[in-house]
Amino acid sequence: MTAKHHGRHGRPWRRIRAEVLARDPYCTIRGPKCTGWSTTVDHIIPLSVRPDLAHDLTNLRGTCAADNYAGGARITNAKKRTAGRVTRLTW
Ligand SMILES: [Zn+2]
Repeated sequence: MTAKHHGRHGRPWRRIRAEVLARDPYCTIRGPKCTGWSTTVDHIIPLSVRPDLAHDLTNLRGTCAADNYAGGARITNAKKRTAGRVTRLTW
């Protein structure tokens, strides 16, 4: 029972968060209350399912606070991600 779910890669969360926000500067969920800009980081596969992916950049996406805390958009769009580079904002 040594498993705290941070620090597996020895990188602090705030650095990982910064990397995700740099990669996804625009919100990747874009729900009805979307503000457009990523200010928070969401786990695509919830930590409760895959705690080992907590710090995996492929399981993280930038979202705005409105969408992240709305919590309704737990859709795994990892497959869309390859095609879904955000080049344009639709408000
Ligand atoms: Zn949003």
